[in-house]
Amino acid sequence: MLFEVEIPTRERFQIVDVTERIQAAVWRGKMKHGLAVVYTKHTTTGLLINEPEEGLLQDFKAKMKELIPKGAGYLHDRIDSNAHSHLRAGLLLNPEVVIPVDQGELQLGTWQRVLFVELDGPRHRRVIVMLCPCSEYPEEE
Ligand code: ZN
Repeated sequence: MLFEVEIPTRERFQIVDVTERIQAAVWRGKMKHGLAVVYTKHTTTGLLINEPEEGLLQDFKAKMKELIPKGAGYLHDRIDSNAHSHLRAGLLLNPEVVIPVDQGELQLGTWQRVLFVELDGPRHRRVIVMLCPCSEYPEEE
């Protein structure tokens, strides 16, 4: 089962907590046990699972800017000036996260949230949630 989650972003570089939207897709799909594959179809966005504490989110952004600064003589900037966004997406993040689902609930740790990272916004983004039920799961009593 495939679901699409809409993520309108408001800033150039923004980290959005999309956990509730992913959980809602799992409920909509009525999947009890399995894997939720969350996948972004864009080349200047990424996903990660971590703690959405405001200071930490600023730390993530500052470190990404430090590691891959904007406009450092990249060849792609001759086309559309967003090479740093592609590089941060490709080198520091992943296009997907996979989360186990048990009893219809995302199995995230106490401080874990699914974070969508906009690297070249604001734009209207779409993330796919593929629900993969586990057929070998033992029957419940
Ligand atoms: Zn580009």
